[in-house]
Amino acid sequence: MITVEHLSKTYGDVRAVDDITFSCRPGAVTGFLGPNGAGKSTTMRVIAGLTPATAGSTAVAGVRYHDIPNPGTQVGVLLDASAQHVGRTGREILALGATTMGLPMSRVEEMLELVSLTPSEAKRRVGDYSLGMRQRLGIAHALLGDPKILILDEPANGLDPAGIHWMRSLLRTYADRGGTILLSSHLLHEVQIIADEIIVIGNGRIVAQGTKAELLQSADTFVQAADASALANALTSAGIASTPSRDGLTTEASPEQVGKAAAAAGVALIELRPADGAGLEEMFLQLTTQSQRDVITEGDQA
Ligand code: ADP
Repeated sequence: MITVEHLSKTYGDVRAVDDITFSCRPGAVTGFLGPNGAGKSTTMRVIAGLTPATAGSTAVAGVRYHDIPNPGTQVGVLLDASAQHVGRTGREILALGATTMGLPMSRVEEMLELVSLTPSEAKRRVGDYSLGMRQRLGIAHALLGDPKILILDEPANGLDPAGIHWMRSLLRTYADRGGTILLSSHLLHEVQIIADEIIVIGNGRIVAQGTKAELLQSADTFVQAADASALANALTSAGIASTPSRDGLTTEASPEQVGKAAAAAGVALIELRPADGAGLEEMFLQLTTQSQRDVITEGDQA
């Protein structure tokens, strides 16, 4: 369990995080979604004890990060994959972590294998790693102490499609075994695929939170028939307005009304369901546009 209560963090005049409260439960991936500069990293840094809160509190497994004995065995943290010591090899970094946590060296080999870093890659200096390799090493480091809680800041950055797929299944298995994961991303699609719970942050404030199902829920209906024009005619004659959407139509009418109209006209349906929520996408787009405007404005003034 991770808990964040009324957390605020200011840097000079910048209110990076503004009175946010949320928790992450075991057995679930909690996606922390927000455009660049929204306050995700700052929140994670406070949770991981790397920067003090201005106000409010955070706890991991019920205690402040600094009060956790041997924290690496309780909570795995990957905040900035580029922050690893560039002069050390991947294996050295993991070996150092294992020594600090009092773990057997066999754990280093296990983790290298888990993240698919080959023996020759593990011997190379991290300065020569691609971002994707650094992310893999960072995930290996976070998992080294076999913690039950993971905090990962943009772990998909730099991974190729196969790497992203690999990471998703790794995290899914971890959560399904009862692990707690807080994972940030500035990509809605990324969070939508992996997360069970979603927290949306913009300008330091939480603008939405809930289960993925809740946030993606929409009042609209999606309907599809093999004979698309017959379906459109059926809806029109029943007085139901609709708009084309992918291979079918969306409408504000309920699935029951749509089903009845199609049945009355003898149109066989392929699909009839609540439409994917456009609400979250719309909200996220607004947040992103807003923050990009902020950046441009700041740039103009500079
Ligand atoms: P995100 O991770 O969502 O991209 P951050 O938490 O990195 O967002 O940043 C939130 C805000 O806080 C931004 O405006 C950023 O410029 C500012 N910020 C972050 N870290 C510092 C710092 N060390 N000093 C000053 N401002 C910072």
